[in-house]
Amino acid sequence: MSMNSLPELDRDHLIHPVTSFRGHEAAGVRVLRSANGARITDTEGHELVDGFAGLWCVNTGYGQESIVEAATEQLRRLPYATGYFGLGSEPAIRLAASLAERTPGDLDHIYFTLGGSDAVDSALRFIRYFQQARGMPGKDQVISIEKGYHGSSTVGAGLTGLPAFHEGFGVPLDWQHKIPSPYPYRNPVGEDPQAIIDASTRALSDKIAELGAERVAAFFVEPIQGSGGVIVPPKGWLKAMAETCRAHDVLFVADEVITAFGRTGPLFASADEDVIPDLMTVAKGLTSGYVPMGAVFMREHVYATIADGAGSHTVGHGHTYSAHPVSAAVGLEVLRLYEDGLLENGRRMGTRLLDGLQGLAAHPLVGEVRGKGMLAAIELVTDKAARTPLPAAAEPGQRLFDRAWEEGVLLRAFPSGVLGFAPPLCCTEAEIDRIVEITARVLDRTLEDPDIRQAMA
Ligand code: PLP
Repeated sequence: MSMNSLPELDRDHLIHPVTSFRGHEAAGVRVLRSANGARITDTEGHELVDGFAGLWCVNTGYGQESIVEAATEQLRRLPYATGYFGLGSEPAIRLAASLAERTPGDLDHIYFTLGGSDAVDSALRFIRYFQQARGMPGKDQVISIEKGYHGSSTVGAGLTGLPAFHEGFGVPLDWQHKIPSPYPYRNPVGEDPQAIIDASTRALSDKIAELGAERVAAFFVEPIQGSGGVIVPPKGWLKAMAETCRAHDVLFVADEVITAFGRTGPLFASADEDVIPDLMTVAKGLTSGYVPMGAVFMREHVYATIADGAGSHTVGHGHTYSAHPVSAAVGLEVLRLYEDGLLENGRRMGTRLLDGLQGLAAHPLVGEVRGKGMLAAIELVTDKAARTPLPAAAEPGQRLFDRAWEEGVLLRAFPSGVLGFAPPLCCTEAEIDRIVEITARVLDRTLEDPDIRQAMA
């Protein structure tokens, strides 16, 4: 056995996602050891409330014994079954059927992936196939939104509208186009909901016209932009965007990797907005992070066009671990837990969280509190009237995270100076209150930061 400590071994060998490699070598790793409910414990014995459900994925909370049992039972009975050769497994078939029953409208056909990035990647491949199958191979351009996040595959990173995922990687590709984010707090048209909806639908129509509707295959959108800083569009925005797509014969794709499975309240955020996307991508809460799994849902007309277009030919898209039986067994149990009280608890706790965070609105650093359900954010500013973002010199992404960690809660701190909240749906009232109390302390400590003081002087 190596004599090196875990931090040393980590520094020397483990590459972390979305990280400054040299920065991480210098800062070192914090090693998590165990977790239960909404609590996580590190190897130094610190116990924290997980205010971000891991990476907005552990929606059921940790230590759910029935999930462990479902996985264990499936591991014993049949740990793997390929979907190739016309084979399948019971949990995968049952999960697909259970989900199809619950999705909006006729989003009834499901392809399982390993996570969100390959769900987006799969959706793009199926969309290409669909347009070819209906005799429109030139309809191959795709539109998405600035500040959107659609994963880290090469094509997904190009759909993503965050520069850090482009620089050095040769994306976006020439068929990937963007329109502005609806970002109510910083929208040039102001905060009036209808003005934002009109500006976004106009931007989408204009982009489609510029490219030519006969060339535009699909539009990808998150119902709430997550990694862009929890940007919540006005009620009715998603539906207006879907209708604009339909008017121009453009497929509407809802990327619900974060928003599905109770994160914003219901099982699917699209349903809450009265929208039936042509395709929908999910991951994260599908298995609550216990094991990897994502999925693409497609409506009947998309499936039928692909199926009829292919005829007896092979649709050449697949993964070894598609519809993995252990992940599917976990997915079935997770779904049962959501409907056995977790969605309901999440809705109540989400209201408590947003009310609590709204109570911090008068703090000198709080520009805006926003959110829906158990998905929320505080945008920090150094001047409320001018909405001045925190200075980069104050390293908001690192220092806000560190302060929250030291005070006892895991939060996401975006470099733009936004604090993100996405606690497990199982949180108790006391845990929600603790998240809010600690956030207040983080804000007070941030006010004492010399770089912030200088910016406010
Ligand atoms: N799409 C959205 C909206 C996401 O938020 C994410 C991940 O955060 C992805 C896709 C990519 O998912 P994964 O990290 O599981 O590949």
